[in-house]
Amino acid sequence: MSIQVKNLIKYYGKQAALNGISFELEQGQILGFIGPNGAGKSTAMKIITGIIPANSGEVWVNGIKVEEGSLEIRRIMGYLPENNPLYTDMYVREYLDYVARHYPVAGNRKERIEKVIEETGLLPESHKKISELSKGYRQRVGLAQALVHDPEILILDEPTSGLDPNQIIEIRNLISKIGKEKTVILSTHIMQEVEAICDRVIIVRQGEIVADGKSGEIAGNAGIEKETMVLEFDKAPDTSKIEAIEGVIRLKKLSDNSILIETDPDRDLRAVLFNFAVSEGLAVLSMQKKEMSLEEVFQELTR
Ligand code: ADP
Repeated sequence: MSIQVKNLIKYYGKQAALNGISFELEQGQILGFIGPNGAGKSTAMKIITGIIPANSGEVWVNGIKVEEGSLEIRRIMGYLPENNPLYTDMYVREYLDYVARHYPVAGNRKERIEKVIEETGLLPESHKKISELSKGYRQRVGLAQALVHDPEILILDEPTSGLDPNQIIEIRNLISKIGKEKTVILSTHIMQEVEAICDRVIIVRQGEIVADGKSGEIAGNAGIEKETMVLEFDKAPDTSKIEAIEGVIRLKKLSDNSILIETDPDRDLRAVLFNFAVSEGLAVLSMQKKEMSLEEVFQELTR
């Protein structure tokens, strides 16, 4: 097991930030942490990286207990903080060298820096001062500093926030690539980001985990799966008759001839709906189950 987080509780003064967060993460997974502002994502990430202590609870990484400031944990982990504070007066290489000097970098430091510059796509801009870089390239420098000591685990706090859509896609692709070799935890507000790059999602609300699973399965895991179906007929159906079918909870008209219905998840109404269509002289052109999107699950759980 790569990361074990056990019952983290954190208060800032009287302000509760984490109310008992626990999860385990396998090596090589990309985990997306999502939740509204103030849910406790950054706090959890800072505790996992050993930057701040929890009031109680433990984090174990590869069998090592995370303590505040532990050198061994700093060697294993790379961290990109939210609003990544960069020394903007420094040149890219100078900054990465400065960061690398503070970590136990295995092998030749200069070679490692060049490798990271290449991996993060910084080469064309690497001769510049950080202050001269676009936000997207600054974020690459942030990723490069998190990677410079070749950590096994990367913790990225909102790595794409504030970037334009093209930059977002570039950074996402980069994270997906890095995630093939490393264990990654990232936080984000963007659901498509989680769906695009994460193997697993944890939804946090008010310091607690309210859902945990693969993005396609999370609705079921959170116990909020509704059966939703979209039906298209050859003619307009009498919707009041469909609403009256036992097991139909809600009906929404999508167009003259098509409807969306929410049904009791314990009942399979497909045969009933076919028979209904036949009795009404309607042809069913299509009948499809609709999965709940991550966005819908998120709204359901965090509103
Ligand atoms: P998120 O990253 O999900 O937006 P945070 O972990 O930043 O959430 O915040 C969780 C809660 O802890 C919020 O109520 C926030 O206001 C509070 N908090 C975070 N950092 C501090 C701090 N340094 N001092 C006091 N309260 C804080």
